[in-house]
Amino acid sequence: MGATRKPTRCSIAPPDLLGRLAVEGTPEQREAATCALATSAAMRSQRAVMGQLGRRLNIRTGSLAGATLETGERLSVYDNQTQGRQFLPGVLVRGWEAPAVVDTSVNQAYDGSNATYEFYRDQFGRSSLDGVGMELVSTVHYGVGFDNAFWDGSQMVYGDGSGRIFKIGALTSAIDVIAHELTHGVTEFTAGLVYSKQSGALNESFSDVFGSLVKQHSLNQTAAEASWLIGEGILVPELGAALRSMIHPGTAYSGDRQPGNMAEYVNLPDNNDPRNDNGGVHINSGIPNRAFALAAIALGGHAWEKAGRIWYEVLTTRLRPTTQFDAAAHATIDVAGMIFGEAEQVAVHNAWKEVGVLS
Ligand SMILES: [Zn+2]
Repeated sequence: MGATRKPTRCSIAPPDLLGRLAVEGTPEQREAATCALATSAAMRSQRAVMGQLGRRLNIRTGSLAGATLETGERLSVYDNQTQGRQFLPGVLVRGWEAPAVVDTSVNQAYDGSNATYEFYRDQFGRSSLDGVGMELVSTVHYGVGFDNAFWDGSQMVYGDGSGRIFKIGALTSAIDVIAHELTHGVTEFTAGLVYSKQSGALNESFSDVFGSLVKQHSLNQTAAEASWLIGEGILVPELGAALRSMIHPGTAYSGDRQPGNMAEYVNLPDNNDPRNDNGGVHINSGIPNRAFALAAIALGGHAWEKAGRIWYEVLTTRLRPTTQFDAAAHATIDVAGMIFGEAEQVAVHNAWKEVGVLS
């Protein structure tokens, strides 16, 4: 499994947006964005240390209490009580099959994780993120007004939002955000896509694909009915409607730089500037995102039945950590023909042609 790989360090707030608000925002936005960036960076270095330690001791890398958290149950939710990273996972507030509590964030984290678990199990026969029943651990109320949510390599962590970037309480309210982050776990245990440039944009795109599918499934929407927005309604209204639009990349929030075609691919360095986003992983993901949405709409019906099935097979069996867009595209065409047939193969090929990845 992923012990030798660098854990995916994904948080839901687009680093490009936080980086820009930290420099160009109002004083309130600058403060909230700087705080979110600093806290996320601190979490990342902790993950790196824990990962190294885990490898050296040959134990499974996890959160600080990772090894002792495993109870053999499906999921559990903890409260950080706004104390931050020295108090992870926090206090257990709702264990598996325990009744709903008064705290809405706790119940949303519970229900979103459960819906994601059931989606992977029922649609693809997958047992949790690692395929062998890993418990889904979530922590809510992380830090004070923290404007982010992330998968830390072993558990989900949700801030409350400051009301300056994310609406207060919004980070647990979007089921596609929860499924997006948990899918980083699936990717880590399967393709292991390196979180940089094109392979990183594919990593981001697969999270948006399955994030959106879990939401569409929960609403019983067809591909034609879906909004294809990720994180709709969680930003404060003055920043925008959503974090990403899969069908119309670049239109989700003010300053959204996502291209929907290879002709507009944004070539960025992978350095420590959040505005460069690990070489544009949340930016160029717009291209494979649009290919998926176009393929799903062309294939008709529920997006998880054909397009989702193809993308799942590709993610879990066909990719390498350094796979680039064109190789991923060819893999989806190949699998479409293998599982379904020529018509499906043509639909998938056309989608990749329309976004300029294949000719
Ligand atoms: Zn992500």
